[in-house]
This record gives sequence, structure tokens and C-alpha cells, in this order.
Amino acid sequence: MGTLRYRRIMLKIGGEALAGEGGFGFDPDQATSVATKVRRLRDLGTEIAIVIGGGNLWRGKDGLDHGMEQSVSDHMGMLATVMNGLALGDALHRVGLEPRVMTAIEMRAVAEPYIRGRAIRHLEKGRTIIMAAGTGNPYFTTDTAAALRAMEINAEVLIKATKVDGIFDKDPHRFSDAQRFDHLTYIQALNLRVGVMDSTALTLCMDNDLPIIVLDFWQANSVERAILGEAVGTLVTA
Ligand code: UDP
Repeated sequence: MGTLRYRRIMLKIGGEALAGEGGFGFDPDQATSVATKVRRLRDLGTEIAIVIGGGNLWRGKDGLDHGMEQSVSDHMGMLATVMNGLALGDALHRVGLEPRVMTAIEMRAVAEPYIRGRAIRHLEKGRTIIMAAGTGNPYFTTDTAAALRAMEINAEVLIKATKVDGIFDKDPHRFSDAQRFDHLTYIQALNLRVGVMDSTALTLCMDNDLPIIVLDFWQANSVERAILGEAVGTLVTA
């Protein structure tokens, strides 16, 4: 086993990773697959915080298109991330990890409230934390929550786990000649207006010099290789 390049990581997993057919709904077997991958990272000695999305169940935008109030629709989106967080916590437990689900919106009957010091303590004790309910505020995304929490817990990298192998100049699912970038500066990523991460999240990482790695979560050992320092996906730095 090589030496870890990153010891404490923030892993942003979109809700789609837990989805059933067609990218929607929730599939418990998908949660188990995700958990199995997280287990392998943990076995390398990494401290892992996960921010989970909710896009498989609800995105704020879904409601806006039908005239809903954005704050209401976004609250629904944050609640969707809690459902995913609970499911992922359950799956992590089943693969032998010690998960702690924390929420940015207090709901003590189902999960711990997010408290920075407590989150860090969990990591130090080898527990894997799942941060649900995004930032707790509407008008944000879970990418921004991942950037924010990464900073708060002093994570060394933000790994954005997607279905594509990094950042491309155009959608690789639609264009066969799409080019992948090995490395981008924050400014280049911002200027490209890449759909893969929103500008608020990118800016927060830029202002605080937090490296971002965008990679294909489903490619064999992609995250392991990234945390061991191999060039995987697209690295975004200053
Ligand atoms: N959301 C929010 N504030 C946050 C994080 C998320 O309002 O801090 C809402 C927003 O409506 C978003 C939804 O929760 O569309 C689900 O999160 P996201 O779209 O980031 O999930 P992902 O695409 O990663 O599955």
C-alpha cells in the first residue's frame, strides 16, 4: 500500500449514485455498492466525510419549473439529502464501518445536528461522517455544502464523485469528441462554466485554496488512486 497523499477527505456524492432506474428514486443495492467503495477507502486509513446530494429524489429546480417558491422547494431538496444520508449511513454500517449521520437542519430524532467540533472528533475516532441537509440554507447546493464543510473540518481535498471521468470541454455523454482536462485552475473551471460544479462551490474552494478532484466514482479504484496521489480525473487547483 502506498502512502496517502490526502489523509482527511471530503467526498461529495450526488444523490444519483443511490438512484434506481433512470437516475431517479432510491435503490438500496446502490447504497450498498457506494458503501463498499467507501469501506475500501477507509481501509487505507483515510478519514472520510461525505456530503450526500438529493438529486435522485428532489432538486429545488424541479419545483421552480412549476411555480413553487424557491425556499420551499430547496427545503424539500435538503430533506431529500437526509433520506439519502440515512440510507447511506445504514449501508455503511452494514459493511462494517461506524457511520455518523449529521444534519445541517436539526432533527434530533433521526440524526445528530452538525456541530463542527463533534464532526472532527468523529473523524479522529475513525468514524465516517455523512453530512446531510446541505448547508441548511436554500439557494445553495450540496456542492457548496461540501466545499464549506471541507473547509470547516480541515479536509485536504474535495473529491467530487460523478459518473464521468473528470471535467470535459463539453458533455462527454452527448459529444464523442469531448476533451477531458487533466488539470484546471479554479479560474479556468469558473470560466468554462462547467456543469460539474457550481460557481459558489468553486469560488469557496478557490478563496481557501482547497484542491478539488472530479472523478468517475464507478471506475475501478478511482478514489483510492486519487488519495494515493495518482492523477485521476481532473484536478482543480490555484
Ligand atoms: N439544497 C439547498 N441548500 C443546500 C443544499 C441543497 O437548498 O445547502 C437543495 C437544493 O434544492 C438542491 C437539493 O437540495 O437542488 C438537492 O441537492 P443537490 O441538487 O446539490 O443534490 P445532487 O445534485 O448532488 O444530488
